[in-house]
Amino acid sequence: MNIKDNSELIIASNNKNKIREIREIFINEFDNIYSLFDKGIDIEIEETGVTFEENATIKARAISKLTGMYALADDSGLQVYALGGDPGVYSARYAGKQCSDSANNEKLILSMANITDRRAKFTSSVVLCAPDGEIISALGHVEGEITHKLIGDSGFGYDPLFFSYELNETFAVASNVKKNTVSHRARALSNLSKLIK
Ligand code: IMP
Repeated sequence: MNIKDNSELIIASNNKNKIREIREIFINEFDNIYSLFDKGIDIEIEETGVTFEENATIKARAISKLTGMYALADDSGLQVYALGGDPGVYSARYAGKQCSDSANNEKLILSMANITDRRAKFTSSVVLCAPDGEIISALGHVEGEITHKLIGDSGFGYDPLFFSYELNETFAVASNVKKNTVSHRARALSNLSKLIK
């Protein structure tokens, strides 16, 4: 995708970590980079897709249409091999609508109680939608295993249960900086940046 001169980007998220990470990677491609909060946008976009890519596309399209700007959205989640890819696109609401990270973690521990194959991966899909509707997208993955109990207290979501093969520790033990050297989101963003001119 060719980014036109003097273009601005809006990130379809209010998550501070994601916004910081995206700003760092795309700082040279856009004149200004905004969050939804910066633009006073407070809308709930229903994630009705059945894949990460569909959900990221729904969000990027909606925010680009609303603002007339380039819009970048991501959707991510945890896929456990022995659970047929669950919780997948339902990662945020595995234990029910509006549930907490700890409720999700508790449910995952119980679901895996008798399972010996504990392999899992995080997947992130990132989508950039241009004002004219053109779309580019990229994926990123990180492989690991689900631990039997919570280990570590940094990060968010399933981090305390995800033992990264590359880091040799759970994502909740690793620092943010260390996690971002291997994370699914960092990899998806880096793959997307290669598609931009
Ligand atoms: P979202 O794409 O930010 O909506 O993430 C969906 C859900 O996937 C989150 O609520 C977390 O439960 C889980 N998730 C996504 N990325 C991560 C991560 O890096 N660490 C832990 N959990 C994650």
